[in-house]
Amino acid sequence: MKAVVLEQVEGQTQAEVKQITVPGEELGNVLVDVEWSSLNYKDALAITGKGKIIRNFPMVPGIDFAGRVAASSDSAFNAGQEVVLTGWGVGENHWGGLAEQARVKSEWLVPLPAGLTARKAMIVGTAGFTAMLCVMALEEAGITPQSGEVVVTGASGGVGSTAIALLHALGYQVVAVSGRESTHDYLRQLGASRILPRSEFAETRPLEKQVWAGAVDTVGGNVLAKLLAQMNYSGCVAACGLAGGFSLPTTVMPFILRNVRLQGVDSVSAPIERRIAAWERLAKLLPESFYQTATTEISLEQAAKFADDIMNNAVQGRTLVKVS
Ligand code: NDP
Repeated sequence: MKAVVLEQVEGQTQAEVKQITVPGEELGNVLVDVEWSSLNYKDALAITGKGKIIRNFPMVPGIDFAGRVAASSDSAFNAGQEVVLTGWGVGENHWGGLAEQARVKSEWLVPLPAGLTARKAMIVGTAGFTAMLCVMALEEAGITPQSGEVVVTGASGGVGSTAIALLHALGYQVVAVSGRESTHDYLRQLGASRILPRSEFAETRPLEKQVWAGAVDTVGGNVLAKLLAQMNYSGCVAACGLAGGFSLPTTVMPFILRNVRLQGVDSVSAPIERRIAAWERLAKLLPESFYQTATTEISLEQAAKFADDIMNNAVQGRTLVKVS
């Protein structure tokens, strides 16, 4: 099969498209013909070697994929069935989706919900799935469209773009925080009603004027600290990312004086029932225009170049990889 293969050469990660042997059944009871994969921030960290995502080389990257079951020894999946996979360490410590076939465990797979094609599922990908989990976290914290504005950081990235589209579809007033002026038209098309520059989030005090009912934060660091200081009483921040750094220079004040909730969101080990619920909602909520506006389609051969672009904050929306 054709695959992107990562190897370590003199301490540097190198990515090359190669012909390799399909892994045997000991690595998983389902073989999937991968049709589409995508590039997420974590893929970019892995492919460029800028993050310590991969410890054992050679490795096939790709933390998500969609395609058809080629063979399964679990009767829950039949040959020809359409499936989607995100997370579980696939593309990190188990060969991933940037390959014509993937061998995985049946419990990692989600049947493709009605209303989604494999291509659409990978336009959504791990990033969009995580955005849905963040929106669900805000709903579970009681944040409704009537509660007030919801802010999304890292807005023109994959998680941010999908979060804006989802929140807009649900009737929330969405405010985007972005470091790039070039993406403002795009953010408005997705449904942002206001756009704030990232530079406004560089410094903060323990408490500031209350502005936000909810927040989806993909950035961490000072940006997340400022969001916390600006949350309304009983507001909720769904925090899923670290595009701006993994530190959190904050105080307890928003929590003990304003009843603010900081809800962590992880997509890698999300339980299967939550995955199915999230994919069903994604299939229903995202408008056709999202798939057109938010997608850059590339080939396996272009994955390494686009991983560099993602690390340089030069990609907007989702990067879809046509595998076969
Ligand atoms: P993208 O690269 O698509 O988007 C990240 C966005 O963050 C960029 O578009 C940019 O938005 C902003 N950004 C980039 N660099 C910086 C910086 N130095 N400081 C502040 N903002 C910055 O990534 P994804 O959307 O795929 O992922 C976003 C984050 O969410 C990542 O940290 C990723 O690891 C995390 N994530 C976590 C998951 C989980 O399970 N918890 C799952 C998926 C993603 P703009 O130009 O508009 O400012």
